[in-house]
Amino acid sequence: MLQFGGDVTEVKFYQNNRGRIFVKLNDGTMFDVSGATGTKRHHHHRHSSKTNKAAVATLNNEGENLPPIFSSKSKSASNSVLTKLRSTNSSNDIIERDVTSLTRMSNLPAPDSFDALQISSDRLRTIIAALHCNILIRKDDLVRNLDYAANVLEAVHQDETKRLMEEDDGALSEIEPDSVPNEVRDWLAMTFTRSMSTIKNRPSEKKKFKSVAQAIRAGIMVDSCARYLRRLSIDIKFKTINEWTFDVFSVNEFTNGQCLRYVGFELMQRYNLPNKLRIPVTALQNFLEQMEMGYSKYRNPYHNLIHAADVLQTIYQIIYNSGLMVENWLTDHELFATFIAAIIHDFEHTGTSNNFHIQSRSDVALTYNDRAVLENHHVSAAFRLLRIDDYNIVSEFTSDEYKNFRHLVIEMVLATDMSSHFTQLKTMRSLLSMPENIEKSKALALILHCADISHPGKPWPIHQIWTESLMEEFFTQGAKEKELGLPCSPLCDRENTLVAESQIGFIQYIVEPSFIVMGDMLEKILKSFVVSDSELPSPSIPGRSNATSPTPSGASSGGDSNAQNDEQNGQDRQLPSSMTTPLARPTVVRRPWSDYLKSNRERWLKEAEEERRRKELKVIEEEP
Ligand SMILES: [Zn+2]
Repeated sequence: MLQFGGDVTEVKFYQNNRGRIFVKLNDGTMFDVSGATGTKRHHHHRHSSKTNKAAVATLNNEGENLPPIFSSKSKSASNSVLTKLRSTNSSNDIIERDVTSLTRMSNLPAPDSFDALQISSDRLRTIIAALHCNILIRKDDLVRNLDYAANVLEAVHQDETKRLMEEDDGALSEIEPDSVPNEVRDWLAMTFTRSMSTIKNRPSEKKKFKSVAQAIRAGIMVDSCARYLRRLSIDIKFKTINEWTFDVFSVNEFTNGQCLRYVGFELMQRYNLPNKLRIPVTALQNFLEQMEMGYSKYRNPYHNLIHAADVLQTIYQIIYNSGLMVENWLTDHELFATFIAAIIHDFEHTGTSNNFHIQSRSDVALTYNDRAVLENHHVSAAFRLLRIDDYNIVSEFTSDEYKNFRHLVIEMVLATDMSSHFTQLKTMRSLLSMPENIEKSKALALILHCADISHPGKPWPIHQIWTESLMEEFFTQGAKEKELGLPCSPLCDRENTLVAESQIGFIQYIVEPSFIVMGDMLEKILKSFVVSDSELPSPSIPGRSNATSPTPSGASSGGDSNAQNDEQNGQDRQLPSSMTTPLARPTVVRRPWSDYLKSNRERWLKEAEEERRRKELKVIEEEP
């Protein structure tokens, strides 16, 4: 904050020929009050930095001869504050009055309206003038006004981005059909525009380019827009973090390939876990960064950090949408262990299967005696990290807390070994038929396993990317097996694999049955809460207080002061309402995966038919 030195009795306003406005005090000090920077300029003392030299030089040339603003006619609307100042001796009174008006936030025009532009810029000017004159603004007013101005800017930016995108589409629509080969055209479209639709539409609509230069220009704009939008978009994307259709790929794009640390950090913050569990935030950030590095070690197409972020978000929203979060099924420590288990569950995955490790007699296979080879490594390597202070996220845990945390994480991650799939399902089915409550570690292990194989239950475009990535990883393993003289694992021969058929089998025999058991399990757990609560007299449910159970905090990155843009986050703020109305609570768990599993399977059936036809054609062609 700027301080006036000495006794200020005389204030003069000047405007230079570039339209900038200066305040000159009788001690010779000058301020530029026309911009947002508001630099204090000492007329007589030269500064050493280059920028200041330039500023002082400008003043030396123009300062003394500046026409006082009182005689100049400024049309700029942004000068309105100063326009008011010139008509009175007591400029502070006017600024003070304007500052008072900052408290009025009702009846402001919507941020995307034209009027909002003028009003928010006026208010910013008032804030700047008040800061210059050391007039106190209430923090609340400052925050709310800055927030409003930010909303206005975002609205303008969105408008502009939309306009640019439309311009882009226009540019691409003029591609001369035969001027460039299709491949080049696709490359141009993909590299230099925001829109992928041009590629898909190509066969029906003949498109042309005005010029490559225009496309490149558009590309540069894309780049800068993407940068500016990134922060905003991350916030928007995170609003769907509770949803089954969450698009981890676009979050990964917007976070520059760092979606694991963003999703991880967001979820921890959302439940205020760093605070509640005394997790050092720097250690958490370092740990997440190490996780990302471990996941990137072998450059796997599938078992990479996006998969980890996907499994993390999936397990989170399965629990969230089951209604169990509201019932405080998990303690903070258990929720934290669940997040960490998901985060580390494929840490340093080699992109090859356990069987490959066993067959090739790799070091890890020898270390873990061919049993849950990779899963053991994931857990072990992650816990080794925790021994280093910089990464130790559990340094403040008591030994009991650590013991329970470690137990839960080990149970969960080891259960992601696909070879234990049928045993796990069988055990859970028998537990479901018994009246006893289900052990939390067993339940969480099944949810993690389901999240791990959940992609066929996601919307087709997401499922398709995962399928392609997994196939690519399989084929790479196949090539390695060939190299080593090992028999090729199923689905790993690039020349000879039925992708569609494999997914149909996967959905029908593995994914669907797992999700049915998991859904039933969640319902059983949910019912146990409702029944036990309704048996109790309503005021005495002491076991579940907010203090020990995870409830969402307001600490998400979604900008909480911004109520208008926060509609979806309303869900996040769900608080345990269970205490007062035990009978009205749902005991049915929504299963959004069912429809997707069905429609994706149907889609693969069609693809399989085509695969068969292609194969038949190939056979006919090969016959003499
Ligand atoms: Zn996995």
